[in-house]
Amino acid sequence: MGIEDALPESGILTTTIEGIAGWMRRASIMPATFGLACCAIEMMAFGCARYDADRWGQVAFRASPRHADLLIISGRVSQKMAPVMRQVYDQMPGPKWVMAMGVCASSGGMFNNYAIVQGGDHIVPVDVYVPGCPPRPDMFIDGMFKLREIVLRDPMGAHRAKVLEDLEELQLAA
Ligand code: SF4
Repeated sequence: MGIEDALPESGILTTTIEGIAGWMRRASIMPATFGLACCAIEMMAFGCARYDADRWGQVAFRASPRHADLLIISGRVSQKMAPVMRQVYDQMPGPKWVMAMGVCASSGGMFNNYAIVQGGDHIVPVDVYVPGCPPRPDMFIDGMFKLREIVLRDPMGAHRAKVLEDLEELQLAA
């Protein structure tokens, strides 16, 4: 179906500024270059020619968090790396999103021990959880498409302020 089929007969579309922002932003996601553990290898595969994620505008990895709008928690989060990850997140300008890649990033996985944070969402608010150990790049791509839906619905990340507030309350209570 071409764009001309989607247009009403009058050829005029009405929308909101936020709607246009979401439509554009969902197809130009810029992840921070940040790897944590073995899952990061699959994240790199996702960024290479075989999977060609660039065709959906998903793989403009940025060298600086200040130029990124997606943090991918690509592996287990050690207690030592947790503050570093939080700093990277804090340095990213909003609106921004977070994906937990793999079971370790989502819940600690098999590393139920003192050295590993039991889920990246104890440190930063997570939007999408991708299962697997490690998730294959195609599972990762599926997660990215779920993220696109979230970005389309909330391109300015308005829900995050509340999620972050709740997380900080939990961290204070812990
Ligand atoms: Fe490594 Fe599996 Fe944990 Fe990913 S989910 S960091 S592959 S152990």
